[in-house]
Amino acid sequence: MKKYCFFLLPVLLLASCKPAVRKESRTVFALGTVCSIQLFTEKPQSKADTVLQICTRRLEELERHLSANAEISTLIDINKASGVSAVNVPADIYPLFERAMFFAEKTDGAFNPVIGGIVKLWNIGFENARKPEDRDIRDALFRTGYKDVQLTGTAVFLKKAGMKLDLGAIAKGFAADELTRIVRQAGIAHAVIDIGGTISAVGKRPDGKRWNIGIRDPRVQQGQPVISAAIESCSISTSGSYERYFEQDGVRYHHIIDPATGYPVRNNMIAVSVFSDSATDADALSTACFVLGYEKAVKLLAELPDTEALFIFDDNSVCTTAGLAQHIKVLDSAFRLADMNKHITGK
Ligand code: FAD
Ligand code: MG
Repeated sequence: MKKYCFFLLPVLLLASCKPAVRKESRTVFALGTVCSIQLFTEKPQSKADTVLQICTRRLEELERHLSANAEISTLIDINKASGVSAVNVPADIYPLFERAMFFAEKTDGAFNPVIGGIVKLWNIGFENARKPEDRDIRDALFRTGYKDVQLTGTAVFLKKAGMKLDLGAIAKGFAADELTRIVRQAGIAHAVIDIGGTISAVGKRPDGKRWNIGIRDPRVQQGQPVISAAIESCSISTSGSYERYFEQDGVRYHHIIDPATGYPVRNNMIAVSVFSDSATDADALSTACFVLGYEKAVKLLAELPDTEALFIFDDNSVCTTAGLAQHIKVLDSAFRLADMNKHITGK
């Protein structure tokens, strides 16, 4: 299995502290990506180290249960038992499966956690990524019906043989929520958790101000932030077409699949960042919004309380939902905030 490390889209811009508050941090490679935990605390270093250790162990546990790429994981067991039997899931991870199915229903399958068979065919992010044969895509699409997933309360059953779960679009968010829970339970009020670009800001900065999260131009690797967002007690997840992709015969194929066709989504968006108090929801929704396209995404977000989003389009225009506009600053003049209706057909 190749470990693939893609670059992070959002970066932390500012984190100034009260003198007594120290920053204790750790960066680990887990869930196929770079995960960083920054704690801002007055607690003794040994206490902060223990919290960082517990966080690291939780990430390792989640990887053992949720990896679609490892040789062994609970998720692989579920996939292997497809069409045959249900597989028990640890009680502390079961809510992730419920939430994944909630968003599958809510988005009419635009967010599809049983897209695994199609994801494996494309293998984007791995060495042998290639455009599959059309007939293989058509064939795999028969085993991506999210209505064929049965949750029993303690177990998961994929009703059709050959169905494959892939939680790559939601599990990093769940991990960020899990680490936030650990950090809060330890009495740490200020922290930033970054699971491969899915970021949870715990509380405010130690100086009482909001955290500033920078969003880069997704097309420029390691570039400076072009937009900043001021947030508190909030998670951000970004999905885009420039994070994992390969090129074949001059065509770029990226990793976010339209479950209706089995091909990478094509639209005029290059990235969407979703802001929510749940990182799990932000993660699922950023992928869903990318698949749905701007107009349907805006309708979906309007039905969800306390959920905002920022969309970047290929002409460098930027749209935000109404509740977010006041917290956004454009830092690079190549980008401009546009009217929300700009990308709605007929307006
Ligand atoms: P997101 O938009 O959040 O998710 C896109 C991903 O979700 C795609 O890559 C695909 O897997 C899936 N997907 C595509 N279309 C849809 C759709 N319509 N609905 C639902 N899901 C969809 N990567 C590696 O390269 N090597 C590893 O060893 C590895 N291990 C991992 C282990 C775990 C437990 C997890 C959760 C992920 C792992 N990954 C690994 C994947 C990687 O870390 C990210 O999850 C992946 O890059 C997608 O994250 P994203 O935020 O960029 O995109
Ligand atoms: Mg996602």
